[in-house]
Amino acid sequence: MNELIVGIDLGTTNSELSVLRDGKVEVLPIHGNPIMPSCVGLDPSGKLIVGQAARNQLVAAPEHTVLSIKRKMGEDAKVRLGEQEFSPEEVSSFILRELKQEAERQLGQPVRKAVITVPAFFNERQRKATQAAGDLAGLEVVRIINEPTAAALAYGAGVTEGETMLVYDLGGGTFDVSVVVMEQGVVEVKASHGDTHLGGDDFDQLLVDHAVKEFKRQHSVELTPDVRTLRRLQVVMERAKRILSDEPFVNVREEYLDGQHHLEMELTRDDYERLILPLLEKTLTCVHQSLADAKLSPRDIHKVMLVGGATRTPLVHRLLQERLRLDPRFEINPDLIVAMGAAIQAGVIAGEKRHSILVDITPHTYSTTALSFRRGLEEIVCVPIIPRNTPLPASKSEIVFTLYDNQAQVKVEAYQGEGDLPDQNIFIGDFLVEGLSRVPSGNPIIIHFDLDLNGLLKVTATEKATGLAKSITLDTHGQHVINLDEARRNIATLVGPYGPDAAEGTPELATDLLAEEEIEQPVADTQQLLNTAKDLRKRGEVLLQKTVSAEDAQEIRELIHQSATAIKDGDWPALAARNDSLSDVLFYLED
Ligand code: AMP
Repeated sequence: MNELIVGIDLGTTNSELSVLRDGKVEVLPIHGNPIMPSCVGLDPSGKLIVGQAARNQLVAAPEHTVLSIKRKMGEDAKVRLGEQEFSPEEVSSFILRELKQEAERQLGQPVRKAVITVPAFFNERQRKATQAAGDLAGLEVVRIINEPTAAALAYGAGVTEGETMLVYDLGGGTFDVSVVVMEQGVVEVKASHGDTHLGGDDFDQLLVDHAVKEFKRQHSVELTPDVRTLRRLQVVMERAKRILSDEPFVNVREEYLDGQHHLEMELTRDDYERLILPLLEKTLTCVHQSLADAKLSPRDIHKVMLVGGATRTPLVHRLLQERLRLDPRFEINPDLIVAMGAAIQAGVIAGEKRHSILVDITPHTYSTTALSFRRGLEEIVCVPIIPRNTPLPASKSEIVFTLYDNQAQVKVEAYQGEGDLPDQNIFIGDFLVEGLSRVPSGNPIIIHFDLDLNGLLKVTATEKATGLAKSITLDTHGQHVINLDEARRNIATLVGPYGPDAAEGTPELATDLLAEEEIEQPVADTQQLLNTAKDLRKRGEVLLQKTVSAEDAQEIRELIHQSATAIKDGDWPALAARNDSLSDVLFYLED
C-alpha cells in the first residue's frame, strides 16, 4: 500500500482536509465537520485550542485568540497569544498540527506528508513560510500547489472534452484568478493573477467601519477601537454579510457595544454592495489581466468556476455576468474543492494511478540584476530570466558580463515581481561568485534559474569561460524566513518538544478543555461530573453564538470559565456547583 499523503487547504478563514484512497477523493471530517475554522486560541487554563473551540471564544477572549493568520504569512510579524508571542509560521503550524492529528485519527495511521495549497499569487516568502509551518507541525510538505489550480484539478478529474475555464477564487483573505485549459486529463494553467490581501475579511472591515460611523451618528459616541469591541463588531458584521447574500436587508443588533448603548441598524444589500464594489472592481481588473496574459477573450471561456466562501456574494455573480458576459457557477462545493484537488495531487505523488496531470505556471516573473545604461543613465535594473506565466518546472538562463578588468567576483541577486527596478520587487536572495578568471571586462557569467513545481527557486551562476567548475548554487528551497530551531523551542511551551519525525513522541494536542489526559484519573462519579460539564459547555457555546443579552452572555462565560478552573484544580465539589448553576441558566435561556 502506498503511504497516504493528505491534501490540505490551509485557508485564511477555514481549513479543510482531504485524501485520495482507492481512486476516490474523501473529505476527512475535522472535529466532526468538513470545515475547521483556521482559528487558534488558549483556553481559560492556558491550553492550546484549535478550530471551532477557538472560534467560539473569539469575542469572549480576544487576547487569547488568533484568526486570519494567513494574511501575515511571509511577514516578519509576531502575534500575541496570551503571554507569549508567535510568528505566523508558528500559529499556522498549530492549525496544521491539528489537521495532521485529525487525519491520523480518521485514517488510523500516521500521517507524515502533505500537499498544501496556497494562493497562486503567494510569493516566494509566503510559500516558504507555508513550508516552514508544515515542518513545525511535523509534516513534510511534498508539494505546494496553487489553490485555483487545485480547484481545476478536482473539477478536471471528470472532464474529457477540451474546456477552457476561468477559476475565480475569493476566500477570506486572498483573491486569485486563473485561466485553465483542460484536455484529456491534462490540466494546464495558462495564466494566474491575484491579490494576496483581498478577501471577505476586507468586506467585514468595511462593514465594521460603516457600523462605527452609524454608532457615532446615533449616539454621538466615538467607539474606542479596543480589541474586544472590534471582535464583537467583526463577528456581528460578518454574520450580517452572510445574511445579505440571501436577503435584501438585515437588522444588525449588538447590545451595550460601548457598555451603555446598543448598536441597532438596518443594512440593505444595496448599501453593502456600494461599499464593496471598489474591491470587486479590483478582482475584475485581475480577471482582465489574466485573460490578456493567456491571449484570450471572455468569449473563449467555456466555464467560470467559483471557489471560496466569499464567492457566495451575489454581486460577484452579477459583475461577472454583466461585465464579462460570463455565467459563473459552483461546480463542486466551493469550500471543499481546493482540498479535494490537493488530495488528487497528493495521490498522484503517492503513486495512485489514474487522475489528471497538472501543468502549472508561475504567476510572477523571476529576475536577476545588472547595471544598465539606459537613457544615458547608469542604474541597477532587474533582468527577467523566468517571465510570469511560464509553465513549471522552468529552467532558463541569461548572460551578464563583468564590468571591470580583472574583476574577481560578482554578486548575483534574485528578485520576484514585475517591476523594472529592484526596489519595486521582492528580494529573494543573493550570493557571491568568487575566484573569477583575471580577464578584461565583459567576462560572461551565465545566470541559471530553476523554478520547481512548488514555485521555489534555485539559482546557479557559472563563469562561461571556465565552465561548471566556477558555478555556485543558491538553493532557497530548504531555507526559511524563520529559524526553525528557535520556532520549535517557542512552540514547545504549548505543544511539547518534538521533531519532524517524532511520530510516537508527538504529544496529543488537547483540543478540548476537558481532555482526559489533563486530569488526574477521575473516579466514576467524577467522570459523570466531567461529562456533564462538557455537555453544558457545548450548550453554552451554542447559546453564545445566538442572540442572548450581554448580561446572560457574561454569566455563561463566567460559569464556563469557573468550571474550567475547577477542572484544572481537580476541585470536584466546585465543579458540581458550577454544573448546577450553568444548567439553571441554560434551562432558562434555551427554547
Ligand atoms: P474561505 O476562505 O473560502 O473559507 O472563505 C471565507 C470567506 O467567505 C469569509 O470571509 C466568509 O465571511 C465568507 N463567506 C462565507 N459564507 C458566505 C456567504 N454566504 N456570503 C458571503 N460571504 C461568505
